Parts: sequence; structure tokens; C-alpha cells
Amino acid sequence: QAKKRGKNRWVIFSSDMYQRKSERTLMEKDLRRALDREELVLNYQPIIKLDSGELNSLEALIRWKHPEHGFISPGKFIPLAEQTGLIEPIGKWVLKEACRQVKIWRESNKSLIMNVNLSSKQLEKAGLERNIYQILQDINLDPACLNLEVTESAAMSKLESNVRTLKRLKFMGIRLSIDDFGTGYSSLAHLQRFPLDELKIDRSFIISLKAGKACHRIVHAIVELALGLKLKMVAEGIETNSQLNMVKTFNCHYGQGFLFSKAMAANEIEKNWFTVGKERPFALSQAMKAA
Ligand code: C2E
Ligand code: MG
Ligand code: MG
Ligand code: MG
Repeated sequence: QAKKRGKNRWVIFSSDMYQRKSERTLMEKDLRRALDREELVLNYQPIIKLDSGELNSLEALIRWKHPEHGFISPGKFIPLAEQTGLIEPIGKWVLKEACRQVKIWRESNKSLIMNVNLSSKQLEKAGLERNIYQILQDINLDPACLNLEVTESAAMSKLESNVRTLKRLKFMGIRLSIDDFGTGYSSLAHLQRFPLDELKIDRSFIISLKAGKACHRIVHAIVELALGLKLKMVAEGIETNSQLNMVKTFNCHYGQGFLFSKAMAANEIEKNWFTVGKERPFALSQAMKAA
């Protein structure tokens, strides 16, 4: 009986009624315990150098492995974590875990970079730089292997103080990128105030690349902009060969998407991407042949 209720409860979470206060409170309680119970895990999605098909960096993407309800995607619980302040301990855990992992992987993959997502709440919270500095110290990790991703709208939300924070992170030697670029409302004038290394064009532009000419020009213009600003340009959400070919004709040098690989657990990354002499995953070798 109780179990049945539990199930129903979860169904509600994943629907639009999830916004109801009582359901949110229940989920919050579970999420509060998730860290202690080690239910949070990081998966990693490759970012590929498009001309060679080589692995360039990995983006750490969080999942919640709920004991009864299975894997829950970040889209479902990160907003709640942000509303409740739980994003602070969760975000700190993500940073530590991703740094620990890249430290190990860099022993055999010398130029590997780890991308970590930062929410606006983390960015705006005093002490972020100190926390990150401490993590890098504890792990003895070169700051240049860490790349923080901030969405365009998060970066713009408190422009002046965010510029200051990002400059301090940059000064520490950490790499910075704007995530989901094109979905926010940033003016290009503001963009150049951030000490950026990378621009990630949002998946929505790549999806509609096949649809029409206007989108073509937008993507092309964004790539030109990034290259003009000497930024590393990453196309997110590449799913098809034709999308890959199009972004390559724009001179976009890096890509991420299901065509290459989904986000995977650490051991699967090792199996599929690190083994010397082993062939690359099917989708990738096919994609590279076609391109
Ligand atoms: P994001 O940072 O833009 O991450 C990319 C998302 O797009 C990931 O979803 C990834 O699995 C998905 N994706 C990648 N390639 C493709 C593709 O070819 N097709 C499609 N349909 N999807 C693709 P995921 O893992 O569900 O993450 C969603 C969002 O949750 C992330 O968007 C990020 O904003 C947030 N997030 C994930 N992990 C963390 C975290 O540790 N901290 C914070 N603050 N946010 C996180
Ligand atoms: Mg991201
Ligand atoms: Mg993104
Ligand atoms: Mg996104």
C-alpha cells in the first residue's frame, strides 16, 4: 500500500503537477538525503575535435540514481535544488568528483579537459572562487584542466558581479565557457566583457539546421563571431551526419552530441574512449568516414 502510494507520488513529480507544493516537499526530502546516501552520480559526455574525431574534453552531467525510481535527469531536480539551496552542496560535490576523475584520467590522457556546469545560484554565491581553489589544491589539479560552463542567461542575470567572479576564476587559470548560447538574451557587447575561452551553441540551432536557410545563417554567424573572438566553438546536440557536415563547413572545430556519444558512466568512458588500439564506437567511425 505504502509502496503504491510512493509510486504514484513519483508519477506526480514527473508531470506538470510537480509544481504542487506538497510533492515538491517530498522530493526535496529525498534529494536532501541523496548526497549522504551516495545516490548522485556523474556521467560524462565526450566533446570531439571534429577534424580528427579525437576526444577533446568530457562534460560532467549529473544523474540521480534513486533507489526506487531509477535514474532521474538533472532537468527534473536541478531546478528544485536551486530553489531550495541544495544546489550548493550538490554543486560542490559535482566539482570535487569531476576534478578527482579528471586528475586520474589525465595520467593517461594528458590533454583531457573536464567541463563542469555551474548554476546561476552557485555563481552568485559568495565564496565560490575560494571553494574551487580549495578543491584544486586538495586534488592537486592544474586549473587549466577545469572548464566551467555557465549558461548565457545565468551569466547575464547579475552582470556586474558575475563579470567580477568570472574574472577571478579566469585569473586562477580556470577555463570558462558560455553554455546554450543563443537561447538567452545577451547582447554581444556584454558577451565580450566575460573572460571566455569557449562558446557552446545551443542544441536547438543544430536541430533545425536541416529545416531552413535562416537557421543556417544564424549558426554560421555565431561560429564566425566565436572565431572572431578567438573562442573555442562547440556545436551541441549533433545527432546526424548532415548536421555534422554543415557545422564543419562553417569551420566549427568541436562538437558534442549523440552522433558521437551519449553521456556515459566513468567505466564506460574508459572502455569506449581510452583503450589503446581499440576501434572507436561505431557511430563515430561512421560519422568520420562520411564527413
Ligand atoms: P547542458 O549543460 O546543455 O548539457 C547538455 C544536455 O544535452 C545533456 O542533458 C546531454 O545529455 C544532452 N545532449 C547532448 N547531446 C545531445 C544530442 O545529440 N541530442 C539530445 N537530444 N540531447 C543531447 P542532461 O544530462 O539531461 O542535462 C541537462 C541539463 O542539466 C544540462 O544542460 C545542464 O544545464 C544541467 N546539468 C547537468 N548536470 C549538471 C550539474 O552537475 N550542475 C548543474 N548546475 N547543472 C547540470
Ligand atoms: Mg553544459
Ligand atoms: Mg548546453
Ligand atoms: Mg542545455
